[in-house]
Amino acid sequence: MMNNLVFEKRINVTQPKMPPLSQYLGYLEQIWENKWLTNNGPLHEKFKEGLKEYLEVENLELFTNGHLALEIAIKSLDLKGEIITTPFTFASTTHAITNCGLTPVFCDIDPDTFNIDPKKIEDKITEKTSAILAVHVFGIPCNVERISEIAQKYNLKVIYDAAHAFGVYKDGVSIGNFGDISMFSLHATKVFNSIEGGILTYKDAKLSDKIRSLRNFGIVGSGDIKYVGLNAKMNEFQAAMGLCNLESIDQDIAKREELFKTYVNSLQDKFDIKFIQLNGTWQHNYSYFPILLKNKYFRDKLHELLKKYNVVTRKYFYPLCNKFDCYNYDSGETPIALDISQRVLCLPLYTELTVENVKQISDIIVYELGGLYEQL
Ligand SMILES: *Cc1c(COP(=O)(O)O)cnc(C)c1O
Repeated sequence: MMNNLVFEKRINVTQPKMPPLSQYLGYLEQIWENKWLTNNGPLHEKFKEGLKEYLEVENLELFTNGHLALEIAIKSLDLKGEIITTPFTFASTTHAITNCGLTPVFCDIDPDTFNIDPKKIEDKITEKTSAILAVHVFGIPCNVERISEIAQKYNLKVIYDAAHAFGVYKDGVSIGNFGDISMFSLHATKVFNSIEGGILTYKDAKLSDKIRSLRNFGIVGSGDIKYVGLNAKMNEFQAAMGLCNLESIDQDIAKREELFKTYVNSLQDKFDIKFIQLNGTWQHNYSYFPILLKNKYFRDKLHELLKKYNVVTRKYFYPLCNKFDCYNYDSGETPIALDISQRVLCLPLYTELTVENVKQISDIIVYELGGLYEQL
């Protein structure tokens, strides 16, 4: 234990991006003036237009959170039977499939990208398969070209859980333009937040009416109820927060990039720690800083030791979704995902963190791992 490296104030794994209070108050005054709180209010419409421009997409709708947006994506495509997905994700991805009455079929992941491994998808396809639900985990793009080829060959729909991928580009194309539908989460803990919030971007403009209807109890223009819908509307207070944060998003991502690269410089070549490899074909949003340790023992130990320094890390994503108590799925078929889930640890990363904070966290890690290796 190095007492001089203990943080006085707790460093959490993430911290919500807050705009200047005065900026938010300006929007609150507009809301009081308008007396329009939800159901496609003026701030909702303004936020929607701003996001279409920022994400460079044709079709986009807003939701009260990302999870309900994902369920609506599944419902809007009339999917049935089985959906091929990844176990290395947040509970929401699997729950959305199950809540919609479908069966998740887990496919193993690529150890370098942590994303669904396209080489293993075809083995999972049966006559009941209707879609692939892939996740751009930690903001790393999936192999969208291969997934698209497989989907075309077998006539499957493709949904991307892009909850982590706001602001990511693949070969110069904004990430919301792949597959049939993509979902972004604007939860407080994500790169870009509207307190809670979600986005669907989608290819087929003809889906608009259905998606909007599903978001509002299944009500259609005539007043009839055409679908078994949900209530998943984004309100004006959320839109106001989103509008504020949209103004600073480029600076926020640039700040994260600086912190991310500080971690890389401080930790590379130390004790075989592995982290996300940036390469020329995609542009990152620096949403998370996951590291891979040698084994579960080192991961769990480091997680505990960092707490003593007032540093909170998270075992994202452990346990795997096919290991949850509420499900009865066999995880034996996703050995790579299982291995990664036991070795991964996400380090603190948020815009208010400083380069000095990151250097200090890295120093603690190097010191404590040194101690753990000596005990071997
Ligand atoms: C956060 C998250 C969601 C759910 O988003 P909410 O906006 O919190 O409902 C879905 N999938 C993944 C991978 C997430 O990290």
